[in-house]
Amino acid sequence: MTEVSISESPEESGFVKEIPSKSQHFAEWYTAVILKAELADYYPVRGCTVIRPYGYTIWELMQQGLDRRFKETGHTNAYFPLFIPQSFLRREAEHVEKFAPEVAWVTRGGGEELSEPLAVRPTSETAIGHMYARWIRSYRDLPVLINQWCNVVRWEKATRPFLRTMEFLWQEGHTAHRTADEAESEARLMLDVYRDFAETDLCMAVLSGRKPESEKFPGALHTYAIEALMPDGQALQAGTSHNLGQNFARAFNIKFLDSDNTEKLAWTTSWGVSWRMLGGLIMVHGDDRGLVLPPHVAPVQAVIVPILTGKAREEVLSAARGISASLTPQVRTRLDDRTEVTPGWKFNDWEMRGVPLRIEVGPRDLAQRQAILVPRVGGEKRIAPLEGIAEAVSAALADIKQTLSRQSNAFLDSHIVSAATLDEVVAAIAAHRGFVRLQWCGEDACELTLRRESGASPRLISEDAPAGACAVCGNRSRHVVYYARAY
Ligand code: ZN
Repeated sequence: MTEVSISESPEESGFVKEIPSKSQHFAEWYTAVILKAELADYYPVRGCTVIRPYGYTIWELMQQGLDRRFKETGHTNAYFPLFIPQSFLRREAEHVEKFAPEVAWVTRGGGEELSEPLAVRPTSETAIGHMYARWIRSYRDLPVLINQWCNVVRWEKATRPFLRTMEFLWQEGHTAHRTADEAESEARLMLDVYRDFAETDLCMAVLSGRKPESEKFPGALHTYAIEALMPDGQALQAGTSHNLGQNFARAFNIKFLDSDNTEKLAWTTSWGVSWRMLGGLIMVHGDDRGLVLPPHVAPVQAVIVPILTGKAREEVLSAARGISASLTPQVRTRLDDRTEVTPGWKFNDWEMRGVPLRIEVGPRDLAQRQAILVPRVGGEKRIAPLEGIAEAVSAALADIKQTLSRQSNAFLDSHIVSAATLDEVVAAIAAHRGFVRLQWCGEDACELTLRRESGASPRLISEDAPAGACAVCGNRSRHVVYYARAY
């Protein structure tokens, strides 16, 4: 072991105490972690967030994980304009009704009133629909499989960093197909892509399924979604995939000449994930010491902290450099050779920033040709021989990933309860939060009663076969639905 004991100076212990307790002050904890880990900062325009380099690097790693999956499933990236003519937004009735209150408008430019106001895009179905109508002529032009990475603006009243912001970063996929079946398969495929990304890269357990009519995207035939569960028991919609049917094709005249020589309307989809998922990631894995990052999206996967004391100083530093070199580029490492702060301070600092693994090396370790690996979560320190340290580090990172997935799965599983009656639903939501699984007849009146009495909303319709009676009216159940309070 290293010979420097980690002194509990008032300064050092106070450092961690600046983060409120996650279990007792969840909302304050969330904000403190974002600010202290330097993920984001406030900006004088309400609802606009500045993403700092450390936070942006996490977002870039998330982008890479998603982008790779989009390309593997045949999609390519393109870019469409920020401004959308007012007339476009008016073409799809449901769409305009839902988005109208959230749209920011540009009415002046170049010192003059514009002849037609321009919407700052809240989403791009209409802009892209217009272009697809120009590009698609024949069945041979289909499918069109395009994604764009961009910012959008929605005029939100209450905002919180990452979870709900006025301007946010996201990706929006937009596809056009020859048949209804192809569009449906696409919408489901992208739901699976999102689920795989959440589970594999973010170690975040999610439920997936179809949204009830009342919660679907305006203008869509069906909306599919993944929903994660936050530690306060509230659901977070983390990704959505919409089968738009022919609604947008009709509104924008996206037609093609089929092989039977008749003109047909295309079938379209859209699907999106935003930096909201980053907010979910912070909440799901973080603890009282700060952020906890899954290795896939950690800007620094392993931090090397040399214990620089006494005569062996140069040798230790050189060994630390050697470790760094042997891990690069497979592992994203940082060598913390700062001399103005103590090792204890560094340990706290990197833990707070969520670095999955710390590698300590001091004079005594060096004498034994070893280093100490300290995982951020779920495990004891372990000794790793300097020869073959790369294998030990990848094994430790794999263990961390497994621990995070296991914790997240266990939390989700233990927060799904079944309820057979309205009273049981209300009691379960009040006592337990989390997801309540119930039987529903499909009638709006029963849904309204459930919403009003429980304060929760229907998050997903399960693929499971309905059985028994509706929790409200007692008529035959047609759907198994998950209810929860939600962000
Ligand atoms: Zn009912």
